Amino acid sequence: MSQPASPRPRIADRLAPFGTNIFTTITALANQHQAVNLSQGFPDFDGPEFIRQTAAEALLREPNQYAPMPGVPALRRAIAERFTRDTGLPVDADASVTVTCGCTEALPAAVFGTCNPGDGVILFEPFFDIHRSSIVMAGCRPIPVTLHRPQHAAGVGIVREPFRFDEAQLRAAFASGPRAILVNTPHNPTGKVFTREELQLIADLCIAHDVIAICDDVYERLTFDPVLPHVHLATLPGMAERTITLSSAGKTFSLTGWKIGWAVAPPELTRSVRAAHQFLTFSVAPALQIGIAAALAREAECVSPLVATLRANRDLLADALVKLGCDIYFPPSGYFVMADIAPLGESDDFEFVQRLIATRKVAAIPASAFYHTRHLGRTLVRFAFCKRPETVAEGIRRMAASIG
Ligand code: PMP
Repeated sequence: MSQPASPRPRIADRLAPFGTNIFTTITALANQHQAVNLSQGFPDFDGPEFIRQTAAEALLREPNQYAPMPGVPALRRAIAERFTRDTGLPVDADASVTVTCGCTEALPAAVFGTCNPGDGVILFEPFFDIHRSSIVMAGCRPIPVTLHRPQHAAGVGIVREPFRFDEAQLRAAFASGPRAILVNTPHNPTGKVFTREELQLIADLCIAHDVIAICDDVYERLTFDPVLPHVHLATLPGMAERTITLSSAGKTFSLTGWKIGWAVAPPELTRSVRAAHQFLTFSVAPALQIGIAAALAREAECVSPLVATLRANRDLLADALVKLGCDIYFPPSGYFVMADIAPLGESDDFEFVQRLIATRKVAAIPASAFYHTRHLGRTLVRFAFCKRPETVAEGIRRMAASIG
């Protein structure tokens, strides 16, 4: 049979613009140069041993066939009780909790389950890349609202004011008739913790325009500033019935490879999430779910040492980056610090990161990858501090020789 002169592309139009995701690209480059990896957000240490022990025993003693589609009952109960403790909202473990393959699956499950092709979905930029890909893979239209960097003079060092959205841009986004909004607080990559006032405005607009809120709260336990606690959007009046709250065990227990995430939502929205989840992964490894049920029973003892380590790492890395001449946006939560490389005379985050990896053997993420409007992130670089203190110290030592 004769071939047409130019064969049709083998990748779907909706995915072609994405290319290879930034984490895969940078990690490959980091490995090639044996760089200290301060790029991708995963710890280089393991989560608590009792959790791994519980899962290992379950692997040997319990059935290893498909778990129930919504999740193992013991884990769903633990998630429901935790959510009620955190929010005061009643949660039915059977009707309102769905265990997913990480928050990475919960995001598309929530969007596919609630939005129709062509619908607009608001998201804040910069964003964790799966937020945008979930919208695009659903055939929906991303409506970006910018989290603007705080104004500051170049070379000031530590910038403590938060990234902020512009109320008029948010109102205009809602006025365009979106179906849903994705909110990520605490936020990756900026570490921003949305304030109650900001969430109240989002809530008012969701109610006024009958919009569903999909909240990605994976960093909910990793906040460092007591005056900026995590607020659940679902707790604001009128929001519980229109909010899908997503979270994950990966960050809270330093077990990112397990990919145990979940969605908590009222029954009607849970039915929508499950309508998609049943066709995406159907269910998740049962032994790992049993491990996380045990973890949630002893959560506080796991989280407090982790938060102490992350806070100390953040302080070390922030201080070092400032000494190297960057301005940094001091993050009150999470795994990452964003550095502005403009004071170093740099104007291209990709070029800078490639040079950093090749010459200093330290990997970070060029942050324009997190923007819909790329140029807004052209001088921003994201460094991860969710590593052993020795790893962060080694990264700092290598960079200190002279950055770039
Ligand atoms: N949401 C955000 C904001 C994240 O940073 C990440 C992980 N980097 C995820 C979701 C993915 O979560 P999981 O590892 O549970 O799939």
